[in-house]
Amino acid sequence: MTNPLPPCLICAGETYTHTPVLWQGLINEWALSPAEADYVDRQQGTRCSGCGCNLRSIALAGAILNAAGTDTRFDEWLATSPPLRTLEINPAGDISPMLAALPRLVRVRYPSIDMQALPHPDGSFDLVLHSDTLEHVPDPRLGLSECQRVLAPGGWLAMTVPTIPGRLTRCRQGLAPSYHGSEGQNRDDHLVHTEFGADTWSMLAEVGFERIGIRTFAYPCAIAWLACKRP
Ligand SMILES: [Zn+2]
Repeated sequence: MTNPLPPCLICAGETYTHTPVLWQGLINEWALSPAEADYVDRQQGTRCSGCGCNLRSIALAGAILNAAGTDTRFDEWLATSPPLRTLEINPAGDISPMLAALPRLVRVRYPSIDMQALPHPDGSFDLVLHSDTLEHVPDPRLGLSECQRVLAPGGWLAMTVPTIPGRLTRCRQGLAPSYHGSEGQNRDDHLVHTEFGADTWSMLAEVGFERIGIRTFAYPCAIAWLACKRP
């Protein structure tokens, strides 16, 4: 690790381990430069030795803390059993097991449950979470609109998508199929529909979210987004 990483936002751990996760086929499809491939690899493959969470999960935890309006550690915040009505769409990265500490947590799986047509009534949740799922949703704006619909006024969305901050967002329609997951697996639900860039915030704004924020961790490795439904 060339630059020392900041302390973990989840457990305050200060040491990290790295296991490479990207493969050349994905790097080619995504047309990542060596520098981009390096930070995406660290986003996914560098883990806190204390809690085991990778950098993107740490950034997501930071976004949740921002939404909750607290500067405490994520593990200490969870220990207070925050009563937020929370919807987790797909396991939210490495923090997913910890979220069981939320007494009002509802979990759904995409695509078994379609993020573009959530089954929940309007205003059901105070917090909606998803991590590296939106890029697999055919119409990401519709998916975000549904997240907003099921939020109560003043509720928060916190999410990660693999983001290349030196680019703008592009739709992969018409391009050769590209899959996340692991090399050669090519599961349908890992097909990438959208590659996200620095303008990801504008998609949140387009569907009506306000107070849009960004939580970085070891930038540019890890970026999480948060957005509030109009109170
Ligand atoms: Zn940690």
